[in-house]
Amino acid sequence: MPEALDRAVVALANFSTRLRRTRCRPEEVLVLFASCLQRSDCDRRLDEDLTNCARCGRCAVAAFLDLSEKYGVRVYRATGGRRAAARARAPAIKAIVAVACRKELREGVFACLPKAVLARTIAWPCGPCKDTTVEMDRVEEAVRWLLR
Ligand code: SF4
Repeated sequence: MPEALDRAVVALANFSTRLRRTRCRPEEVLVLFASCLQRSDCDRRLDEDLTNCARCGRCAVAAFLDLSEKYGVRVYRATGGRRAAARARAPAIKAIVAVACRKELREGVFACLPKAVLARTIAWPCGPCKDTTVEMDRVEEAVRWLLR
């Protein structure tokens, strides 16, 4: 699927969530982020428990944990589309802040329907799927908007 279409789906999801004016309690917000945001040379096993992160600050995982503590939202490192979608579809979750590449975001938006999704795109300074980065202030802005 052309990148322009991925871009359009992401923009539409963000627009429609803003239009619906979804508001949540902290525990109803799930921040889902792509596993490639963890440093590729980090040996911490985060699959079962994000708190295994030593919070050295070399990648965004520590910042996601900070975000969870600051606002009380749930955070989850997505290791596969199916698992991530199952988390997002849990009845306790009302809205999702999804942090991934545009292709994954496009697939995730459809998988999460009809829930509200605010999508944030990651950057690829080292090429696709390796040591990716994200502007955490934009992720925080999405969380704050849902909790306003
Ligand atoms: S912040 Fe440090 S310890 Fe935590 S996942 Fe990233 S590199 Fe590993």
